[in-house]
Amino acid sequence: MKVYLSSDMEGTAGVVDWEQCRGPGGEYEHYRRLLQDEVNAAIAGAVDAGATGFLVNDSHSTMQNLRPGELLGNARYLSGRHKPMYMMEGLDASFAAVFLVSYHGSMGGESSTLSHTYNPRAIARVLLNGVEVGESGINALVALGHGVPVVLVTGDDTTAAETRAVCPGVTAVVVKRSVSRFAADSLHPAEACRLIREGAAAAVRGLDGARPPAIELPATLEVTFRNADLAEMATRIVGVRRTGTLAVSITDADPVELYRTFVTVVLLTRGIAE
Ligand SMILES: [Zn+2]
Repeated sequence: MKVYLSSDMEGTAGVVDWEQCRGPGGEYEHYRRLLQDEVNAAIAGAVDAGATGFLVNDSHSTMQNLRPGELLGNARYLSGRHKPMYMMEGLDASFAAVFLVSYHGSMGGESSTLSHTYNPRAIARVLLNGVEVGESGINALVALGHGVPVVLVTGDDTTAAETRAVCPGVTAVVVKRSVSRFAADSLHPAEACRLIREGAAAAVRGLDGARPPAIELPATLEVTFRNADLAEMATRIVGVRRTGTLAVSITDADPVELYRTFVTVVLLTRGIAE
């Protein structure tokens, strides 16, 4: 039984500042260890419950934050930049479950430590079928496309709530309470890892009752940008419709195609985002 794990970094207990999430050197070297421990805690919990194979897709920044030899569970490690399926690269129907580890809240939602939705300089808000979503909800499209349930998410309280809105049965392990976008009340890292391990084991044991994300198809993503130039640029992509000065809309019956178009919007607008 294989588990697919997508790891970000802003949702790790103790992390509250961009500098802690950005290498090389400095504080980042300390915080990347905490991230590695949380990823390993999730793997260890899944192993406790009988999982036997792991693919870890590093999805943060330039996507090379973990030490491959220190991953538990003999995990494969998918790292590095310019992955066509970005935060969900490598997922297919051979996996039994998706874990989202160290995730953070959306740019447009309730206060969440280091909140953003793919690109904080370009994207102000994303709605999926009218529901406020962050990366967890957007990435759930790919899980739905492959028929795999998202069973675990770790991060702050806002991330837990946003993920539940799209993946109702998900086990959400809250490792910190966001006080503001740059402040959080975090569990001790050891306690965070203990809870993640327990949560991951419970999530895998509950797989029989797990369902793929609850997203009605065809699905619509409405993206609000931070300025009109970004919205205009996005409409150069086939399937992207301008719906307002700052807003575009994308509808697709295929959730994987919808995600692919969204990723193309992220990549194209990156060039003119300030
Ligand atoms: Zn992120």
